[in-house]
Amino acid sequence: MKLEDLYRQVIMDHYKNPRNKGLVNEKGFKEVHLHNPSCGDDVTIEVKVEDGTVKSIKHDGTGCSICCSSASVMSETLAGKKVDEAKDLINDFFEMIQGNEIKEAQEEALGEALAYKGVSQFPARIKCATLAWKACEKALEDGDDNE
Ligand code: ZN
Repeated sequence: MKLEDLYRQVIMDHYKNPRNKGLVNEKGFKEVHLHNPSCGDDVTIEVKVEDGTVKSIKHDGTGCSICCSSASVMSETLAGKKVDEAKDLINDFFEMIQGNEIKEAQEEALGEALAYKGVSQFPARIKCATLAWKACEKALEDGDDNE
């Protein structure tokens, strides 16, 4: 199987069977909502951080297959990581999407998120792929502690 086909399968699988979809509205979760006007994507994510670790990520919203699947992949990729590690992975994801080289070890850590590598060739879709990751970045930046 060609790598491209494999990547397409990952994206379609997460689009059809999104992981961690649905908001919980529970205490301890930080909520961030982002909108991508150029495509109409609309994403809300909830992130729970405990003891410096990303415990759980939930997402909900509407949008294109790239955006919705990417939210699902993001939730699986970053959950369980240390906050600093998660922030690094988010940055590496942005670098990769822009067509920049990233370290091999980081590629490994990104796992299924590598499926979006090809998006760098479609600048109009970059915002679709990064929307949920940006929301997560924002949630992690705004403070690690719950109010
Ligand atoms: Zn989109």
